[in-house]
Formats: sequence, C-alpha cells, structure tokens
Amino acid sequence: MNESGIKNPQANLSSVGLGNIKTAYWNLSQTELIEKTIQLGQGVLTDTGALAIDTGEFTGRAPKDKFIVKDAKTANTVFWGEVNQPIEEKYFDQLYTKITAYLSGKDVFIKEATACANKNYKLGVRVISELPWAALFAGNMFIRPTADELKTFQHDWLVLHAPGFKADPKVDGTRQHNFAILNFSKKTIIIGGSGYTGEIKKGIFTVLNYELPQEKNVLSMHCSANIGKEKDTAVFFGLSGTGKTTLSADPNRGLIGDDEHGWADDGIFNFEGGCYAKCVDLTEEKEPQIFRAVQFGALLENINFYPGTRKVDYTNIKKTENTRVSYPIHLIDNAVEPSVGGIPKNIFFLTCDAFGVLPPISKLTPGQTMYWFLSGYTAKVAGTEAGITEPKTTFSTCFGAPFLPLNPNKYAEMLAERMKKHNANVWLVNTGWTGGSYGVGSRMKLSYTRAMITEALKGDLEKVKYETHPVFGLAFPTNCPTVPDEVLNPRNTWTDKNAYDDKANELAKQFVKNFEKFAAHASEETRNAAPKVAQSV
Ligand code: ATP
Ligand code: MN
Repeated sequence: MNESGIKNPQANLSSVGLGNIKTAYWNLSQTELIEKTIQLGQGVLTDTGALAIDTGEFTGRAPKDKFIVKDAKTANTVFWGEVNQPIEEKYFDQLYTKITAYLSGKDVFIKEATACANKNYKLGVRVISELPWAALFAGNMFIRPTADELKTFQHDWLVLHAPGFKADPKVDGTRQHNFAILNFSKKTIIIGGSGYTGEIKKGIFTVLNYELPQEKNVLSMHCSANIGKEKDTAVFFGLSGTGKTTLSADPNRGLIGDDEHGWADDGIFNFEGGCYAKCVDLTEEKEPQIFRAVQFGALLENINFYPGTRKVDYTNIKKTENTRVSYPIHLIDNAVEPSVGGIPKNIFFLTCDAFGVLPPISKLTPGQTMYWFLSGYTAKVAGTEAGITEPKTTFSTCFGAPFLPLNPNKYAEMLAERMKKHNANVWLVNTGWTGGSYGVGSRMKLSYTRAMITEALKGDLEKVKYETHPVFGLAFPTNCPTVPDEVLNPRNTWTDKNAYDDKANELAKQFVKNFEKFAAHASEETRNAAPKVAQSV
C-alpha cells in the first residue's frame, strides 16, 4: 500500500480491514482534494473558485435505508420504529467485509476531524471514502485539526464511505442497494450506494444525539445558533427547509453554527465546523453571506451552469430541488471562533406552514413550548410533483425525528429542565405561507421574517400589544415596528375568512391527532397548550 499525506504514525488501515488499498491519501489539504477531484473528472471549478460535483443517483438523504444495529447496547436504549430501524449485527459485519473487498486495489481518501466545539465533548471522526470530494466535504463540515494535532489524532468513530458499492438486499438485510448503517458498539457507520454527502453529516449527528444526552447530560439539538454584540445567544430549531441556515446568517450577529448544537451546563456549542446551505434561488441580495461563501474550498452539489459558462444558475433545479453547498464556517464573515455561546436567551421554533394559518411570529408559554417542541410541525410542499396541490403536513418530533435514536421524551425533558432553570424567551416563527395556503398565498417575505426576528432579539416585541389566536392559543404581536401590521395576523391576509377558519381548524385537528402518542407522558400544562378544535354541529 502506498501512503501519502499527514497522519498519526501509529494509524494504519490494516487495523480496520483495509490492508489492500492502492494508495491511502491521508488528510490531503482542501487544494489537493479539489485537484484530485478534477483530475479524476469528478468535478469542475465554478467562476468563483468553488468545486461543483454531482452526487449521483441520490441527491438527498434516504431515511428508509438508514439502520441501527440492534445488539446488547442498543436493544433497550434505542427508540425503535419507523425512524430507527433495526438490523442484525451479522448483516453489518457482512457488509463491512464486502465493502473492504470492494475497496481493495482502489485509492481511498481519509479525512480526520472532530465534532463538538466544546473541548469536553470532542469526538474524533475518521472518514474513509473512495471519493476525494467526500473527504473535502468531511473537512468542510467537521472541525479541522491542525497538522500537529493530526500527527497524534485518534478517532472515536469511523465512517466507511463507499457510494459505488451496492448491497444485495436479498442477502444483506437492507431494503435496497443503498444503505447507511450505524453500529454503536463498534462505533462505525457504513454508507454504501449513495453519494449524497448529507448522509455523512447526519450520521455523526445521530451518534451525538445518542451519546451526549445519555452519557454526558448534554441536550443535542437540531438547530442553528448565533450570538449578538451583547453576547446574547439565540438558537433556531426547525426541520429541513424552515430557515435554520438562512436565518442564522445575520450580518449583525456572529454565527455559531447552522444545523447541530449541544446545550451543556455552561452554554451551547456547535457540533460542526462548517455549513451546509441550500442553494435553490440563492441570490447575493437575499442571502449575501451564503452567496459569498461559495468560493474556493466550497463544495457545490448538483447545481447547473448557465450554458457555455461556469457561472452557477441557482434557479435551475433540473437535477434536484435540493442543490447544496458545504463550506468551512470561517467562509462566513462573522462566524465566531470557537463556535460556542452562553445559555440561550431566545429560542426560535421555525415552521414552514404551507397552510398559511400560523402567525408569522408568536410568543410561546412554557406549556406551548413543550407542546410545539414535541409536535415538531412543518409542511412539505409538493412543488414539482405533477398533480399534487395540497401541502403535506409533517410532524417530526423535537424538530429532528430522523436523527434521534432515543425516545423523544428524553430530549423534551432535557429541554424542559433547561427552560425552567434559565427562563429563555421562546418564539414560534412561521417562515411559510401567508395570504392563503400553498397555491393561493405566497411565502412570507424573507426580509419580513428577518425583521421580526431582529425585533424579538432586540427586546422590542416585549413592548407591543398581543392578540391571542382563537384556535391555536398563540400570542402574536399586533404591531412590529419594521413590518406592515397587516401581515402579523394571518387571518387578515386571507381574502376568504371562512376558508381561513376552516384551514385553521383542519390543521388543529391534525395537531391533536398527532399529539395522542405524547399525551400520556405529557404534563397537564403541556396538554392544555393544544389547539382548540371547533366541534362541527
Ligand atoms: P436543512 O435542515 O435542510 O439544512 P434549513 O432549516 O437550514 O434546512 P434553509 O437552508 O435555511 O433551511 O432553507 C430555507 C429556504 O427557504 C432558503 O432557500 C430561503 O431562501 C427560503 N426562504 C424563503 N422565504 C423564507 C423566509 N421567510 N424565511 C426563511 N427562509 C425563507
Ligand atoms: Mn441548513
């Protein structure tokens, strides 16, 4: 085996079953990985110096093909179900062996980095991939050690990444040819059949969501975070597409992180060292910081160019609506270093309500906080799918069900404890529709959402009058200095008020039904925060 790059002299690939590699490229620099990708014909440079690649068959995560090995460690700790699907250890072992055979004689690219910006919780991650750009992704997204640190680096978790390897579902225990399998006992993730880089990042997030709450009393959160000049920390929970990355990039505040954080006794910390932003319709005017981060070192996925140029056409979503860019966090001008902040003063729950029913901003009581956290409501819009006009309601508990291996009550209890102790303001922000449901109304203007968040952070929404939503019981401001008053009450934005009331009731019913599974465990205060469904006469 040939080896090049920087590594711990004690580290070797034979110990992980990869003794027959052609060349092992250890911790190549960004530049070298970009060069390799281009040499292999796997990517091209854009006119701003970013690297553009295609991830292949998969352009998004494949939640149905994610499994956790069920063994003595996980049998009674993992919350098994549709999200956390069990797989037998023998299948993991078999696939691991098959992947090592598949990689033998090939080159591999190894990236070693850490997760968790708070040194008490550092997790060493080693990603071994057949693709140089996957190693670039890992270097962009995790926290980068110095060259000296690499010489003594030891990993806690291994990610073995072989997008070109396909499982045989008939004998390998998978659903189809692609898979991501977590083995908590062996601290190893194997990924095959999919080149979508998000699998690597969300694999490690799932690990932290298992280990930190149970073993370290740290609440792990699917949220972005930023910090003001007065050192006040804000976190933004939300499901995919609700605005975590977009809204945390705020020119007046330091960015802590855009997707995953832990809440420890002394404050919050980023799990990652990079951002993973959506690119659809990206413009410099609307999202200047993200737009400018698309430079040398950034990795663009599945984008298209204006014909005959290397200028990215962000409006072109022919390959996928989920075009993405990953970049090290320092490519955002005002990222803070290290990526940590104090106990949050403001917590935002972001929801993209495609019904257009929820107020653009409301302030939650403690009971509502728990109710909305456990519910984890957002809506997915069908968008490009022909014939589908109705939005699809999604309840994803704790705003992150696909990544949570433990019982959701564990995370909810940890949040409740912290809320009781620290008394943060909690805001519900609807970044979705106004003036009607999807198809009739329009998406809330990003500039309005930003303005409302800024007012909330400044404390100005403490001084205004509030109204209570008759169905959802949400207290929303009736005036906000930098936003037209009429957008604040969603009912006012609809021309057909009866249609609004019907939709609100319809959504309320879905909330109540979804909450049935949490009701037994929830406190009376939480249960009382449920919306009031009108009984039909
Ligand atoms: P993921 O978990 O998948 O990374 P995310 O929560 O980080 O998702 P963003 O990447 O911030 O989501 O995506 C929000 C998208 O919605 C962006 O493309 C943004 O431009 C767009 N958008 C439009 N209107 C708004 C609004 N009012 N508030 C927030 N985002 C908006
Ligand atoms: Mn994001």
